[in-house]
Amino acid sequence: MPVYDYRCNSCGQRSALFYKNYADYDRARTEGLRCPNCGSTEMTRLISRVAVAKPGRDYANMSSDEMLSVLEGGDGREVGEMMQQMGQDEVMSDPVTREVTERLIKGDNPEKIEKDMGSDLV
Ligand SMILES: [Zn+2]
Repeated sequence: MPVYDYRCNSCGQRSALFYKNYADYDRARTEGLRCPNCGSTEMTRLISRVAVAKPGRDYANMSSDEMLSVLEGGDGREVGEMMQQMGQDEVMSDPVTREVTERLIKGDNPEKIEKDMGSDLV
């Protein structure tokens, strides 16, 4: 179902407009989008909420200091994501590392994972 976010240029009100399908959306566009608040047709489409929902980090362009701060930050999900982004081939081809990474991303407690995986992990 297409969902579009708009901001009214006239009153600044932001609205999410839902359409049953793209034909519906086309018809609404042809007829002119109206601000539900003031009725203005000066609507600016905003970038989809889905696309900006997760800001994320570009780990590939991180400096080693930044990476270290993520590791030391102890946020398992973030560490997992970083490992997944960085690791690509070598790291992720190791089944143990891959499982750890996947569990970190799911939000598992890193200490618990460590115990489960055995002491040779670290
Ligand atoms: Zn308005």
